[in-house]
Amino acid sequence: MNSRQGKLSIYNSLSGQKEHFEPIHDGRVGMYVCGPTLYSEPHMGNMRTFMNFDMIYRYLLHVGYQVKYVRNITDAGHITNSAGNTEDNIGKAARLEQVQSLEIVYKFNVKFQELQRLYNLLSPSIEPTATQHIQEQIEHIEQIIANGFAYVVNGSVYFDVRKYSEKFEYGILSGRKVDELAEETRSLNAQDDKRFFADFALWKKANSDDMQVWRSPWGDGNPGWHIECTAMSTKYLGSHFDIHGGGMDLKFPHHEDEIAQNCGSLGCNPAKYWMHANMLNVNGQKMSKSLGNYFLPKEIVEGTTTLFTKPFSPDVIRFCMMQAHYRSNLDLSEDSLSAAEKGFARLSDALDLTEKINVGTISSFDVHALVDSFYVAMDDDFNTPILIAALFDAVRFVNLINDGKETITTSDLTFLCNEMNGFVQDVLGLNTRSGNSDSKLAPVMGLVLELRQHARENKDWTTSDRIRDGLAAAGIVVKDGKDGTSWS
Ligand code: AMP
Ligand code: ZN
Repeated sequence: MNSRQGKLSIYNSLSGQKEHFEPIHDGRVGMYVCGPTLYSEPHMGNMRTFMNFDMIYRYLLHVGYQVKYVRNITDAGHITNSAGNTEDNIGKAARLEQVQSLEIVYKFNVKFQELQRLYNLLSPSIEPTATQHIQEQIEHIEQIIANGFAYVVNGSVYFDVRKYSEKFEYGILSGRKVDELAEETRSLNAQDDKRFFADFALWKKANSDDMQVWRSPWGDGNPGWHIECTAMSTKYLGSHFDIHGGGMDLKFPHHEDEIAQNCGSLGCNPAKYWMHANMLNVNGQKMSKSLGNYFLPKEIVEGTTTLFTKPFSPDVIRFCMMQAHYRSNLDLSEDSLSAAEKGFARLSDALDLTEKINVGTISSFDVHALVDSFYVAMDDDFNTPILIAALFDAVRFVNLINDGKETITTSDLTFLCNEMNGFVQDVLGLNTRSGNSDSKLAPVMGLVLELRQHARENKDWTTSDRIRDGLAAAGIVVKDGKDGTSWS
């Protein structure tokens, strides 16, 4: 075992406690995270959750685990329920835009991949889609039926919560009691064929206007949303793996139902540790598509959301997100982003300084204890705000060395510098100047802006806008002022 491993504790939603992290297989971690439903462009709230799990993935890699990170793409089965009618979200978007479902998924997947690059998210090991795994979903459903925990009615298949509760505990994750669910679910589901209000669909018979339909032993239809994650996590990580993650809002019913499906088909809870990331709020309310209080990750970088008076770079936004613990709520405000911008500049300046400061014959402070504090913070359930506070302790020392008030040896400076860069760039996923080197980019940007200026002089607005939008997608904001054009 790597010496940096073995100290991590993780808050497990299943027990409601922080637990010492012991992977099922020494040195290896299997992690499944529920990915986006691609019927529209992911909003900033969705990105917060993916960014948090990216940070978790990065830290596991940093301490030397071999990680298999599976994050699915929901391209079928995410059903909405409006006015008594159920409809697949992707199918609904396709119907409204008069295109095929695959076009909707493809369009928003391209955007999602762009956003991952913009916010510096590492690619998961595998990104499976629900529609590629219909057969596996059908097989799980057949097994659940064979085990007596599901029933077929009129071309649909439902999970039998009462039968399941005789052997397993429904509500083990969310703490909900079946009796208490009655009020929330009864009115919504009055229209379907369930035997019991808390039962949920594993397979839904096709509606006549469904855009996507699959063959099954029960007739043409659509898989339920929860079963896709059961099928894909089992296929790629096995029936029992280390970490299952997602946003807090997925705890119930999605994750509760995943546990029920896995227990119902394979007899065990799929994951040892269940992790839930908290929400990005707007004025205290969860950012969501349905409430309409959302903004898109690109709008904040381009400065086109009305919520903020100026644009912020993806690194500043990511830094701001990392200043909140993944289990805390976060409200992005102009004040918090402006403060993050200043903090991030201070951190970047200090990292630049480490390449220039003078070394001495002794270190006047304990560099190893300082670096240990980075690991201690992250080992405590990925506490990024404490990590950032520890990094600022290091920034203070770097500045004091620069002022001649502290000293450091060459080997300690190399060690500190590597560890600071490792945590800032590899763990927090931030590109500081020393990392992405604006100085190398400057001549390229000079040329690009000259070409854009040329296009503008020729009133070729298509080309000039294309250059600006392309740069924005790469995280570079172009500003036209009276003194000329600048970029950041
Ligand atoms: P969806 O595309 O709606 O299935 O959501 C994808 C992921 O984003 C899920 O893990 C959700 O829990 C998460 N999510 C949705 N809204 C928010 C929010 N406001 N803040 C943080 N995460 C969110
Ligand atoms: Zn899922």
